[in-house]
Amino acid sequence: VFAQSPKEIEKVINQAHKEFKGEKGGKNADYIPYLKNVNSDLYGIAIVTADGKVYEVGDTKFEFGIESISKAFVLAMAMQQKGSDKIEDSIGVDATGMPFNSVTAIELEGQKPSNPFVNAGAMATNSIIDAKSKEDKWKFIMDNFNKFAGRDLKVIDELFKSEMATNQHNQAIALLLESYGRMYDNPMTTVELYTKQCSIGVNAKDLAIMAATFANNGVNPITKEKVLEPKYVPKVLSVMSTAGLYETTGEWLFSVGLPGKSGVGGGIIAVVPGVMGIAVFSPPLDEAGNSVRAQKAIEMISDNLGLNVFSAK
Ligand code: GLN
Repeated sequence: VFAQSPKEIEKVINQAHKEFKGEKGGKNADYIPYLKNVNSDLYGIAIVTADGKVYEVGDTKFEFGIESISKAFVLAMAMQQKGSDKIEDSIGVDATGMPFNSVTAIELEGQKPSNPFVNAGAMATNSIIDAKSKEDKWKFIMDNFNKFAGRDLKVIDELFKSEMATNQHNQAIALLLESYGRMYDNPMTTVELYTKQCSIGVNAKDLAIMAATFANNGVNPITKEKVLEPKYVPKVLSVMSTAGLYETTGEWLFSVGLPGKSGVGGGIIAVVPGVMGIAVFSPPLDEAGNSVRAQKAIEMISDNLGLNVFSAK
């Protein structure tokens, strides 16, 4: 049973903020020009519990690109619409052990994209969502993001443009998937919608609420709206556990013991089922594209509050 008091939670997030504020490791993503120019000193931590209590420290109001953290939520939307078997059969749910932008990952498992969190699989997941038109699909995706966050989010236009101008690699992956019959909508429409989902602006508190919606069995703990069928929550969390931080997911799970998902904008979410969602934002990334401060902060929070899902409670 989780028995930490609000005072203890507050103490731990303040401690994690103080401890790693001076951390100098990592550097901003530079393959997307917009991301390179975000202030590297920004650092915010937010926790939202499954019963809706909010804890924040540092730069938790600053809006940044959700980037690959969006993949967890689009996976949830696709499962809700198509069922989890369809995702397993058409996209795959195995770790690749490879970088997020890997082309090789597509060549594994009989040309499946391998999992919904490498770019290939994330684009395939976006493409598998049914809608009458591109506009309707975007509306469906955005409406669902808004429900997870409990407020109206917006695309950061400058980021979207910056990313659209430099996403040739993702275009190539989308076409390769099409050649294997693993792209389920027009590939260029899909690249555009995928890039748009990555350009949605969120702050650390938004992400903590979104993570807490998973922790609370698919019900947003602030708005009380049911966003996801409870049976799909463990499915999303299992993919986060094996592939949420790409080729270093094993090290993450080994040290933190929680399902997590990172984005090259500098955010990481972690989910403690039934208990809380944690979100940390800080732009400098390690080699795998995962925020350095966020990983350290979440490890400290998990250790100090005894959150590791593999230890008996
Ligand atoms: N939009 C980014 C890309 O496709 C997302 C990558 C990430 O966050 N790991 O390259």
